Amino acid sequence: MPELPEVETVRRGLADRLNGYCIEKIEVCRENVIASPGGATEFIAMMKGALVGKWARRGKYLLASLSRKQTNQNHKSIESQSHYGWWGVHLRMTGQFQWHETTSSPCSHTRVRFWDKEDRELRFVDTRNFGQMWWIPSDSFPEKVITGLKHLGPEPFSKAFNASYLQKKLKGKVRSIKSSLLDQSLVAGVGNIYADESLFAARINPKRHAGSITEKELETLCNSLIEVLRLSIGEGGTTFSDFRDLEGLNGNYGGQAWVYRRGGKPCKRCGGIIQREKVCGRSTHWCSNCQE
Ligand SMILES: [Zn+2]
Repeated sequence: MPELPEVETVRRGLADRLNGYCIEKIEVCRENVIASPGGATEFIAMMKGALVGKWARRGKYLLASLSRKQTNQNHKSIESQSHYGWWGVHLRMTGQFQWHETTSSPCSHTRVRFWDKEDRELRFVDTRNFGQMWWIPSDSFPEKVITGLKHLGPEPFSKAFNASYLQKKLKGKVRSIKSSLLDQSLVAGVGNIYADESLFAARINPKRHAGSITEKELETLCNSLIEVLRLSIGEGGTTFSDFRDLEGLNGNYGGQAWVYRRGGKPCKRCGGIIQREKVCGRSTHWCSNCQE
């Protein structure tokens, strides 16, 4: 499943490719992808003619600001752009965007297709079909239409995410630290890979009660998480899972993983065997020697 570094990689790809992209035509191949009120019909009607602006990321959500060209009624030669709404996307398990400069036939997992005047196509492909898209009008807010955005915790790279914040939120909590890190309302964008990797880097056992982690350990954990995410963004995300960026490439972080998907293999730090077990229903990897 794409996590923060992969979604950030996709955001950068979309920002590059769709700079000045004006949506001429849309085809929704699977209607359940469109999660905004009004469904596919309204999505197509409202997105047609929209100029794609800046792309932002919040947790694992992508948001593009949309504008429309307006011709001044009195001076027909004067054109201005007005903010018109937002386009929200969540890739979920297997959603990916593809960029096609030339006409090609879509695969059976194609969900939504966008074209500009030059017939350049942005294609949304999703094998598991959990990915979602929203149209958000300018008189509303993304948080109003995309309910998941309302409950998101701070971004790991923001000032709000620090040891004292975590200590406050985790105080007295008996659930595992692994499960806490996966909770999007605690911190936005972290999933299985980066939870396991940051806990290894911070030398914390993923099964420990969240409330038992000391402030000093939480400080190390914050720094480890930021470091692991930053490193992975630099590598273009991770090689695991179906993740692909717009150009069809997957990232390089996987080769550097310390514990993730390394169950049964020797720990790169101490030589002990990496453990693999389900914690909070998710496959979890750690070294019982290095992580207390
Ligand atoms: Zn070890």
